[in-house]
Amino acid sequence: MSSPIRTRIAPSPTGFLHLGTARTALYSWAYARHFGGQFILRIEDTDVARSTQESVDQILQSMHWLGLTYDEGPVFQMQRLQRYHEVVEQMIAAGTAYRCWCTPAELEAMREQQKARGEKTRYDGRWRPAPGKVLPAPPVGVKPVVRFANPPHGVVSWDDLVKGPISISNEEIDDLIILRPPPDDAPAGSLGIPTYNFAVVVDDWDMRITHVFRGDEHINNTPWQINLYRALGAAIPQFGHCPIILGDDGLKLSKRRGAVSVTAYEEAGYLPEAMLNYLARLGWSHGDDELFSADQMVQWFDGSHLAKSPAQWDPAKLAWVNAHYIKQADDQRLANLVQQQLRTRGVLIERDAKLVSQCALFKDRCATTVELADWVEIYHRAPTPNADERATHVTEAVLPALRALRERLGDCEWTKEGIAGALKQTLADHGIKMPALAMPLRLLVCGRVQTPSVDAVLALFTREEALRRLRDV
Ligand code: GLU
Repeated sequence: MSSPIRTRIAPSPTGFLHLGTARTALYSWAYARHFGGQFILRIEDTDVARSTQESVDQILQSMHWLGLTYDEGPVFQMQRLQRYHEVVEQMIAAGTAYRCWCTPAELEAMREQQKARGEKTRYDGRWRPAPGKVLPAPPVGVKPVVRFANPPHGVVSWDDLVKGPISISNEEIDDLIILRPPPDDAPAGSLGIPTYNFAVVVDDWDMRITHVFRGDEHINNTPWQINLYRALGAAIPQFGHCPIILGDDGLKLSKRRGAVSVTAYEEAGYLPEAMLNYLARLGWSHGDDELFSADQMVQWFDGSHLAKSPAQWDPAKLAWVNAHYIKQADDQRLANLVQQQLRTRGVLIERDAKLVSQCALFKDRCATTVELADWVEIYHRAPTPNADERATHVTEAVLPALRALRERLGDCEWTKEGIAGALKQTLADHGIKMPALAMPLRLLVCGRVQTPSVDAVLALFTREEALRRLRDV
């Protein structure tokens, strides 16, 4: 019987959950769910200087918001130091790793000499044991690193789930540092810290990970990792390296060119199901399907149809996908989100039936819940019509009709139908057409000239508030 599918996502807590990581998390999650396997969250916090608890919290929050449920974890690498040391000692004993006492100055000199000779810079193996080789005595006062004795020759090949067959020659890579000594200011007895390439292998081995999806910036690390699995006698997972995401300017999506964190999109009013749908399509396809749920994706996602070339982040398409899900969203849920959005603007409102109706009325024209909150906000802030628009629409000629309408609105039934009746009557009495009256009315009450049907918009104000806004005509 083949072993169960186990995938993982392994973010480093040195910032927010990046969109690229969210996408590989989604692929890893969907792959495990498709095959009835497990998905694991691991926090790679060995960069002690840059890792923060705030970032861990943000990552957990983003995973939760996206609905990417994990079956195990979060596992923290810094809680596994003992285990890495155990494996390092086994490797040293087996001759697949060795201590190296080179100082930074020595390594620098080595590089300079190689450069001067026009060679590729690499560790020259001076502390690597070999039969018949006499190593110098370890220098006093230097704390050694541990290096992996990478096979010096041959080729490392794997069939990448995304990119297809890849081969890299061992001549291209040197003896990787797998363990660094603890920093000088660490308390006595502190353990050294493993490097990424080593910790990732020990973890994926211990966690019985069968499939690794990650960004293609790691392709150059994979040969070392495969060699490490071999040295440990461990089963090698399958790798799928997803291309980077490009910004809409064709360059790598980065902080400098707009939002790159999941949190930023949550705050900007995107729904998690829209983010998942959009991220899924950014590097994977299922026929011509553009709009699908996470459940549908799980049914379809078997690791095939992953794109080999980079996808471009397309804010307009994301907005379109989000608008679709906002239209479909339950009005009560939208009311909650709008209430939260308005709270961040200092507008404190009840989550009452009126708010729910306002969400229902405006949601069809919104790409984000921020836009929806903009609409709802018109009910809670005095309008500030633009002077030019006011001059265009609130003309001397229309004032008598507006005043008459105000009178009618004072005693009509305060419903959409009642308000529609008052409008119709006023149009008939003054011999004017709907736009001539509706435009100034919208501008004065809502502060904007484009709104859904004005009777429906007005009905969600109180009569008192609507009349107050028409007081000055
Ligand atoms: N911590 C690594 C990263 O965030 C994980 C890479 C991997 O999945 O192996 O890039």
